[in-house]
Amino acid sequence: MEVLSHHLWSRVLCRLPRVLNTSCKSHSSCAAGHAPKPTPTDSINRQSTYLPLVSRLFQPSNLRDVAQESHTQGEMTCKSQRLMLQAGLIHPSNPGCYYYLPATVRSIEKLVRLIDQEMQGIGGQKLDMPSLCSADLWRRSNRWDLMGKELFRLRDRHGAEYCLGPTHEEAVTELLASHGILSYRQLPLLLYQITRKFRDEPKPRFGLLRGREFYMKDMYTFDVSEEAAYHTYESVCQAYARLFSRLGLPIVKVQADTGNIGGKLSHEFQLPAEIGEDRLLVCDSCSFSANVETMEPGQTDCPQCQQSTLVETKGIEVGHTFYLGTKYSHVFNATFNNSLNKPAVTEMGCFGLGVTRILAGAIEVMSKEEAIHWPGLLAPYQVCLLPPKKGSKLDEVAGLAEELALTLGEALPRLKGEVVLDDRIQMTIGKRLKDAYRLGYPYVVVVGQKATEETPRFEVICQQTGETMFLNRDGLLDLLRCVDTV
Ligand code: ATP
Ligand code: MG
Repeated sequence: MEVLSHHLWSRVLCRLPRVLNTSCKSHSSCAAGHAPKPTPTDSINRQSTYLPLVSRLFQPSNLRDVAQESHTQGEMTCKSQRLMLQAGLIHPSNPGCYYYLPATVRSIEKLVRLIDQEMQGIGGQKLDMPSLCSADLWRRSNRWDLMGKELFRLRDRHGAEYCLGPTHEEAVTELLASHGILSYRQLPLLLYQITRKFRDEPKPRFGLLRGREFYMKDMYTFDVSEEAAYHTYESVCQAYARLFSRLGLPIVKVQADTGNIGGKLSHEFQLPAEIGEDRLLVCDSCSFSANVETMEPGQTDCPQCQQSTLVETKGIEVGHTFYLGTKYSHVFNATFNNSLNKPAVTEMGCFGLGVTRILAGAIEVMSKEEAIHWPGLLAPYQVCLLPPKKGSKLDEVAGLAEELALTLGEALPRLKGEVVLDDRIQMTIGKRLKDAYRLGYPYVVVVGQKATEETPRFEVICQQTGETMFLNRDGLLDLLRCVDTV
């Protein structure tokens, strides 16, 4: 959309209710003799564009220093966990379980939209399976016993046994089998869900990186042949690569162990990080990289190019792909009619992404010790606007911030709902700037001294580059027009 003309700009200004109410001494008894009015935000809320106010957000008003606290709980801690607790993004409930507070949910929802785009871009269809899984299903695949203590097990009132789903190969394969015979023309079928998973981890730690209840995207694919399944496998891996590149995460894809999920071919998508719990061996001459678990003990030479010594690094496993073959489709009888009209067993793959782990992992590797940096697309809000302190000599321009907030949403539809106003005008700009810095808004816009110039200019701090710029309204719109959202 075009930049608002000055004419339109002044019309927008006229319609706007006052959020900051700088002209009145208090809301209830106005010096000008106005009757008590609904609170300023009520009038904002009646508009189609709701403007989030920092004072109203459900987040701590004072960012705490919680490094000490998480130590006293005796749990191992790390940067992302400290930052997320400090910013009130998460709140501990019991070991490995957290409340996700509203800003975190915004971020998770963005990640979910991104994953949906990539999965649906390769033909994925989203479904949603029950978390309560019957023990019978898991006994048929032999995993009821194999999973041991990792399964959260429970009984219903009739004594029937269940587990809370840690993964859903059994469920999805039985679902497919129960749908009657498929035709080869209906394959490949790519089914996925993004749901809470439950695992009684022996050592839940590092906040959202290793929880006992967490979000995972799990996709299950069904193909007509091994060759077709490999093709599907490759297309999911490419979608993963696109996803991580859109997030700006430097992922290493390594050969992996197939674990108790079974199958023949497997890769992990690892995010290199000091606190990573996986050890990786990476060749710097060729493309070879593997999880140490898959290698001969003590092997240091690259088995692929035989030219280089492998370098060891640590990684956070954010995704895992498996070619499963017929391990589950055979047990549950997930078959299809092939082109000769003969029944055949489907070839399966399964593909996990740790949704909450990706979020925490990104914060872990991108942030500074004292300030969160988000992948741009996942920041809960893109822009924070700071009006001057109440009663300062800048009072005359105080209204510009709220006007700007609403105008941005109108002029740049992609920023609708992405702009917050730090209306805590009893606090100095400096103090609010510090909070904004620690919370990691990609763009902070201050209405300060230069806003009193004939053509008002705003101080714009871009967190990604650390740059500060002074831009007039059009300049600001031009800058923010480039912001990518999902
Ligand atoms: P790990 O080796 O870290 O325990 P896993 O290999 O058991 O993980 P998968 O079964 O491959 O995990 O699950 C798919 C994805 O789910 C993982 O790649 C990871 O990103 C995520 N994930 C697994 N366990 C957890 C957990 N406890 N907390 C958060 N995310 C997890
Ligand atoms: Mg794994």
